[in-house]
Amino acid sequence: MRRKEQMENTGKRFSKRDAWLLAAAALVILVVFVIFRQFSGGSGSTVTVTVGGEVYGTYSLDEDQKIDIKINGTVTNVLVIRDHQADMTEADCPDQLCVRQKAISKDHETIVCLPNQVVAEVSNPNGENELDDVAN
Ligand SMILES: [Zn+2]
Repeated sequence: MRRKEQMENTGKRFSKRDAWLLAAAALVILVVFVIFRQFSGGSGSTVTVTVGGEVYGTYSLDEDQKIDIKINGTVTNVLVIRDHQADMTEADCPDQLCVRQKAISKDHETIVCLPNQVVAEVSNPNGENELDDVAN
């Protein structure tokens, strides 16, 4: 009987501590989430595709999509947006350098296809202040 009471008390103490741990963990997750959103540059970012210096289109990195870039009615490059990153997955250029370039997600990162004059550049309206600080 006494032993059972002891166990119940112990159980109570642990559950209270668990509640605190849970609250602390939730707080940590929340803080990490906010910091991540602040610095990841994923939120609100867009990728602008230009062909021969002219804007072909602007696409949100928040939305998974596949963009066929056509020049004179022929698809020359394929840009895929997935997990807030833009990646050139296909191209008909001989060097294939653009396909080999890493996926882009941060402000002012670019993928360039020189033979086709295709440029994909990330812009993040939330990152402009940071950039101004660097420029000054
Ligand atoms: Zn290329």
